[in-house]
Amino acid sequence: MSEPLVIVGNGMAAARLVDELVKSSLGRYAIAVIGEEPRLAYNRVLLSSVLAGETGSHDIELKPASWWRERGVTLKYGSRVTEIDVGRRELKIESDESIEFSKLVLATGSSALRLNVPGADLAGVHTFRDTRDVDLLLTLAAQKKRVVVVGGGLLGLEAAYGLAKAGATVTLVHLMDRLMERQLDAPAAHLLKSLVERKGINILLNASTARILGESKVESIELVDGRRIDADAVIFAAGIRPNVALANEAGIKVNRGVVVDDVLQTSAAGIFALGECAEHRGICYGLVEPAYEQGRVLARHLAGREAAYRGSVVATNLKVSGVSVFSAGDFMGAEGSESIVLSDVKRGAYKKLVIADGRLTGAVLIGEVTDALWYLELIRCREPVARIRKDMMFGRALALAAKAA
Ligand SMILES: Cc1cc2nc3c(=O)[nH]c(=O)nc-3n(C[C@H](O)[C@H](O)[C@H](O)COP(=O)(O)OP(=O)(O)OC[C@H]3O[C@@H](n4cnc5c(N)ncnc54)[C@H](O)[C@@H]3O)c2cc1C
Repeated sequence: MSEPLVIVGNGMAAARLVDELVKSSLGRYAIAVIGEEPRLAYNRVLLSSVLAGETGSHDIELKPASWWRERGVTLKYGSRVTEIDVGRRELKIESDESIEFSKLVLATGSSALRLNVPGADLAGVHTFRDTRDVDLLLTLAAQKKRVVVVGGGLLGLEAAYGLAKAGATVTLVHLMDRLMERQLDAPAAHLLKSLVERKGINILLNASTARILGESKVESIELVDGRRIDADAVIFAAGIRPNVALANEAGIKVNRGVVVDDVLQTSAAGIFALGECAEHRGICYGLVEPAYEQGRVLARHLAGREAAYRGSVVATNLKVSGVSVFSAGDFMGAEGSESIVLSDVKRGAYKKLVIADGRLTGAVLIGEVTDALWYLELIRCREPVARIRKDMMFGRALALAAKAA
């Protein structure tokens, strides 16, 4: 008889894990996936495109219903898991139904952070995490509302761009002195700011939110320095928090995320965690690629094969507010490293390569990102770059031709 394996969460990590599991475990498990969102797993990364009107909400499903059915996966969506009983190998869902498991995987993702400021619970304050949020934001934009987006990271910029494109008047406020400070150095962030402003988005830096004002709904937002911005809605896009409550209440070890070892096992035997809810070697990743790498490792482990997850070199390679942006590795350049920089502000292009000990260790690209994956590969493989150093800045084709000559 197949062993019951239950996955909590029907997001991107869960979908990839099932995909890998059905290939490698060949009927060993009876897989059930229980997800809170009332629809099939979808590509969350594409929510920005849905908001910007570039993709339809139903075109982002990761797999059709038939895919899950044909592989014998039991899907329960629109159901929240409320409790795990580790000792009895049983979990409870909202309806009070109990489900038994032999192995359990937590893939509960993260929630958007709501700033702890007065007025944060007023009507008109929203987040940007799932399709329900996107539907709400699209309604605001269609009504040409004035929206303040709090947060100048990837999510905030995506929200601002989508809302502006859909018709809202958008101001983005960011606590730091530059946008995307976790991915970009100052010149790159400065260039990105000017490119985003060209799309009609007003950007305020060094802008710390003090409170949100309004009688029963949002009317304005006040910054710590006293500036006030009139608004009909506020979108918090200032970070995420791993969903760890279930694990915590079950007595499973939790720091910021659910703590896992190199086979993604939690402190409880036979209970695993992956994706944004997991913390591996002190790191909670907020990107999809590490979740996919973890999915591959966990599937191998569950199939009884040798496997270990040793962490991911994270890279950001995407369109932010319609501008191509890539960042990987030590993009700031640690002490003792050197940087090669090419900046063409007028053309909207910036390129920085960081070299340490004769190897490429970091890169930032704005505008022109054709060679991004090649740079990422060079960073990951740690190959010496002395022979291509002179031409590397001008792209793969030129550098490899020069190397071969
Ligand atoms: C707008 C947006 C744009 C993004 N863009 C990028 C990008 O460009 N590149 C990139 O790498 N990453 C991006 N990300 C991040 C990426 O989407 C996540 O890293 C990825 O979705 C993580 O997968 P996950 O399965 O861990 O979490 P999720 O995809 O969030 O899935 C978790 C699921 O678990 C469910 N759940 C939680 N608790 C329970 C419970 N108790 N019971 C049942 N179900 C539960 C949740 O409802 C959710 O459906 C973006 C995210 C957003 C929101």
